[in-house]
Amino acid sequence: MPSDLLIRGGTVVLPGVFPVTADVAVQDGAIASIGPELPGDAREEVDARGLHVLPGVIDAHVHFNEPGRTDWEGWATGTRALAAGGATACVEMPLNARPPTVDGAAFDAKLAAARASALVDFALWGGLVPGDLDRLDELADRGVVGFKAFMCDSGIDDFPAAGDDVIGAGMVRAAALSLPVAVHAERPSALREPAGTTWRDFVASRPVEAELEAIERALALASETGCAVHIVHVSSGEGVALVAAAHARGVDATCETCPHYLTFTEDDLEALGARAKCAPPLRTAAERDALWEHLGAGRIAFVASDHSPCPPAMKAGDFTAAWGGIAGCQSLLACLLDAQRLPLQATAALTSANVAGRLGLPKARLEPGADADLVLVDVGDRHAPELHDRHRLSPFAGRALRGRVVRTLVRGTTVFLDGRIVARAPIGRLITPDER
Ligand SMILES: [Zn+2]
Repeated sequence: MPSDLLIRGGTVVLPGVFPVTADVAVQDGAIASIGPELPGDAREEVDARGLHVLPGVIDAHVHFNEPGRTDWEGWATGTRALAAGGATACVEMPLNARPPTVDGAAFDAKLAAARASALVDFALWGGLVPGDLDRLDELADRGVVGFKAFMCDSGIDDFPAAGDDVIGAGMVRAAALSLPVAVHAERPSALREPAGTTWRDFVASRPVEAELEAIERALALASETGCAVHIVHVSSGEGVALVAAAHARGVDATCETCPHYLTFTEDDLEALGARAKCAPPLRTAAERDALWEHLGAGRIAFVASDHSPCPPAMKAGDFTAAWGGIAGCQSLLACLLDAQRLPLQATAALTSANVAGRLGLPKARLEPGADADLVLVDVGDRHAPELHDRHRLSPFAGRALRGRVVRTLVRGTTVFLDGRIVARAPIGRLITPDER
């Protein structure tokens, strides 16, 4: 029987096994078979010789700000950037859209916005903020992957910080719902007012100790409540080590880091300015190298972009007043490929299967019957791609990276091809966690 699509002769990258040359047949949006020189004709054939075929990236941490702050980003532009970077799905954060995703109605509003514009599949984080404990169940009913809390000021008035009491109570409820709590880990008592307005003042105001104290607190709360905890955007090697040690003690704890912590150091802030401002801030070269070591040793569950853009005016002016957030979702996969520090199968796991595994999403399975979420990459080609997010104000802008995304397929439909968005409709669908 002819398949819809046959991807011929690519080097298929599966987690845990050495990449092999194989064909991939796609039928009705799902993988029909994978194997060498598959027989049969197809309605469409793609020559992938010389290219690697990877599972589509699932970016576990993006802020698309719609509804309410679509001038910051938006589902249309944000998912264009994802597709151009080889992502076939994302998990979107509860804050920076208005309203924040802290109850069922807000979830419904965000779902409507996403369905109207998303080019890739998406899941949603719910928010854990003071006063919304009785709303976690309705968020879970709608299919959030978990609940995100800020241990410090989030920078957005409508998403207040959660104290230990709120996080503890939220963890009790989340554990009952079999969902994880994700935390932004910086301890407010260890943060200082910047002494001046330069990048050095900002970095000094958010020391590594603030992250470590917060991670310890979050791990203790998870241990007490039996809740799964995920530390987002860890910036330091010691932070990862704390999570790994807790995991070894039996706490259901994981963490992620981000392309910017793996690529840049605080010294780059001089040249990059506020477009490389984030919290926790960029760290030293020693911390960056420690993160790579932890990645290689499997102590970091996955790498996510924490794409958190804003209008250019909010990045202007003095450094300490500028918005803290980095736009980088298009560069996630290329950043890892460019560094050439990890085997391709580890890169595939860190950007897809590990995300799906931790969050219980029925994705990232390169096997017959699974969604045909695939990205074809020329791993040797080094170039600076055109960015597709709304403001293109990224520290990765203009930066040549090895690893050119040639084609991105969401459930078998090509959404990005040879530098252009070719999706004709917003085909993105809500993904919800499997029952556990
Ligand atoms: Zn974030």
